Amino acid sequence: MSTEAPKSSALFVRAQKVIPGGVNSPVRAFRAVGGTPRFIARADGAYMWDADGQRYIDYIGSWGPMILGHGHPAVLEAVTKAARDGLSFGAPTEREIELAEEILKLVPSMDQVRLVSSGTEAAMTAIRLARGATGRSRFIKFEGCYHGHADALLVKAGSGLATFGNPTSAGVPPEVVQHTMVLEYNNLGQLDEAFALHGSEIACVMIEPIAGNMNFVRASVPFVKRLRELCSQHGALLVFDEVMTGFRVALGSAQSLYAQAIPGFAPDISVFGKVIGGGMPLAAFGARRAVMEQLAPLGPVYQAGTLSGNPVATACGLATLREIQRPGFYEGLATRTQSLVSGLLGAARDAGVPMCGDSQGGMFGFFFSRASGDPLPQNYGAVMATDKERFNSFFHGILERGVYLAPALYEAGFVSAAHSAADIEATVAAARAALA
Ligand SMILES: *Cc1c(COP(=O)(O)O)cnc(C)c1O
Repeated sequence: MSTEAPKSSALFVRAQKVIPGGVNSPVRAFRAVGGTPRFIARADGAYMWDADGQRYIDYIGSWGPMILGHGHPAVLEAVTKAARDGLSFGAPTEREIELAEEILKLVPSMDQVRLVSSGTEAAMTAIRLARGATGRSRFIKFEGCYHGHADALLVKAGSGLATFGNPTSAGVPPEVVQHTMVLEYNNLGQLDEAFALHGSEIACVMIEPIAGNMNFVRASVPFVKRLRELCSQHGALLVFDEVMTGFRVALGSAQSLYAQAIPGFAPDISVFGKVIGGGMPLAAFGARRAVMEQLAPLGPVYQAGTLSGNPVATACGLATLREIQRPGFYEGLATRTQSLVSGLLGAARDAGVPMCGDSQGGMFGFFFSRASGDPLPQNYGAVMATDKERFNSFFHGILERGVYLAPALYEAGFVSAAHSAADIEATVAAARAALA
């Protein structure tokens, strides 16, 4: 297999002239791993082809949405039919109701949803809604969780719990993040302390229940249980950001897994994106009726969108949500994902390389540990302490062999229903060769 990518290299040079860094979302530039980003020409099923005609088994799936694989016939048909009927009206359509009904049927913690166009928009509005509904300003997020790039969310922890967070992006004034508290993921002590200090001022706590923006880290059941208790005791809303985990880790999303472990568990607000758009720009947030009725036009919390509930995007999302409800869908997906992770771990073991990994449904992560037997990282610090150099050389080694993993060690991976047992085997074989 060739290590050259002359057409991608030429396109990257050309792109950098007219687009900052040559990309429209920073991680695509391969800065974390080095090298030339592949420019993708087309995709089908489990595969993508770059501009040089090189084929890759795709474990990014557009960062999550492509749970059915690329070019699923039912999805393509729904999208082309919808496009013929009109690209956008800026007026309500029946399909928006159908999609809302479908989502609510699968996620019983919500009575109503509002459709928007990106996860960023949905998460940003969930915070505004929580603040509006509680009349409070402060909120808590966790280090290593990503909730899109709204100003108040681009923040890292200050020097102590009582201090303000610090912006992680230029252009975000410190005043804008002064109400954002950043705590360590899975740290029960910090959570208790934060609520003891500021409980009556906290509007909401926002969390990725299985954090996929620091590779793959589960919130522990005791942590989520305590989070739920503290929010209820102090009148704060618990916001589950399921933009990545929604309809990806289970049909009922991550919240259904925590509800199995914690009787009566439900978040107050849920945020979705990625899979619910099936590859088109679509996201949503939802909650119980009393919370959602705080939104305009019924209530005082403003939110709007020119392309919200877009007819082509809703058709794509609906077709996707219908396919994933086929009997056995998640069992098959989880089995293939598990066999990928166990294959990677086996290959690493045979090569004498310390590695650990985990998966849920069609989402997975693996880490190059510093020593064999190291446990799975439980927070951002532990993730960033894993072996980055080894990950980066593995990334390039397996890319050259036709396997496209996320180009950064802090990103989760995704398997689709189009990935066959043979694709998984080929991937494990490529991993063996790359590790050797
Ligand atoms: C991708 C993601 C977002 C942001 O969604 P965009 O559609 O990229 O704006 C928010 N939260 C989580 C958990 C995500 O994975």
